[in-house]
Amino acid sequence: MGAKSKVLIIGGTGYLGKRLVKASLEHGHETYVLQRQEIGVDIEKIQMLLSFKKQGAHLVIGSFNDHLSLVEAVKQVDVVICAVSGVHIRSHQILLQLKLVDAIKEAGNIKRFFPSEFGTDPARMADALEPGRVTFDDKMVVRKAVEDAGIPFTYVSANCFAGYMVGGLCQPGHILPSRESVTILGDGNKKSIFVDEDDIASYTIRMIDDSRTCNKTVYIRPSENILSQKEVVQLWEKLIGKQLQKPYLSEQDFFNIMKGQGYEEQVGLTHYYHVYYQGCLTNFEIEKHNEEASALYPDIKYVKVEEYLKQYL
Ligand code: NDP
Repeated sequence: MGAKSKVLIIGGTGYLGKRLVKASLEHGHETYVLQRQEIGVDIEKIQMLLSFKKQGAHLVIGSFNDHLSLVEAVKQVDVVICAVSGVHIRSHQILLQLKLVDAIKEAGNIKRFFPSEFGTDPARMADALEPGRVTFDDKMVVRKAVEDAGIPFTYVSANCFAGYMVGGLCQPGHILPSRESVTILGDGNKKSIFVDEDDIASYTIRMIDDSRTCNKTVYIRPSENILSQKEVVQLWEKLIGKQLQKPYLSEQDFFNIMKGQGYEEQVGLTHYYHVYYQGCLTNFEIEKHNEEASALYPDIKYVKVEEYLKQYL
């Protein structure tokens, strides 16, 4: 087996990014983290970056506003993982990533690029509703740029981050499980997929030097974490030894609530709609030319939803 690839993580101080840095270091990759000039005096970010350095990472100073700095950063490594924010404002994430794609193209040395995906597969969301479809449309624009540039890629479809979805018992606006009541979206029976964020990072890092994942979408679908909202709620009820009240929210009422919200909230709510009213994460089989992460790496003992819920007791 050859030497492990050198990895550059962009967005390394973010919610997912910091886990990618940790997993990359733990897996023995020489790990580089972009230290954006714009973070200025953000003490939390600076201290996190310094802690990465203490653990063996190299910090690379650069900026999305300085093309050459990105090219230089990219030239130091073999693989780039981008985990920049998914803030749902058109032109934010997409512009950053298109700049990065330009830099990777110019550097010409990158053997694998992981764009900032890590959610629902945008290729399946051509019929997604406004305004949330912006997230999927933007990710598709980035995919096209990557493919047009001939950059080898892996698209990681990580489904639902457990911290947001399991903690809140799948309710928008909640990240802690109630002991009293839970609003059931639709009939509560559409299956979703929940993945611990550290597991997402571990699976992603394993894909780096794995030829089976090159130029593919890899879905993270751990079989025991494919559950409906009602099943998640049942697991919680079992843990607390109590039944919750369960008002149901019809599709129409969901849309009525959505209408009164601001743009960003509506984007987020659209995503909940597709997952919990339409079942968009599980209403398809993975094609033969793509892969599923827990099948590729069965040695990763992923965190099951019940275990995840125990931290809230
Ligand atoms: P964060 O909001 O934590 O942000 C990640 C990083 O983005 C930041 O740390 C920062 O990097 C960078 N960033 C933010 N704003 C700017 C800017 N203006 N200019 C340059 N860089 C900026 O992101 P997440 O970890 O929540 O999201 C990562 C990916 O995961 C996204 O693609 C998102 O769509 C996806 N996601 C999926 C979810 C799911 O349930 N499936 C849930 C949440 C996210 P730096 O470290 O350099 O400061």
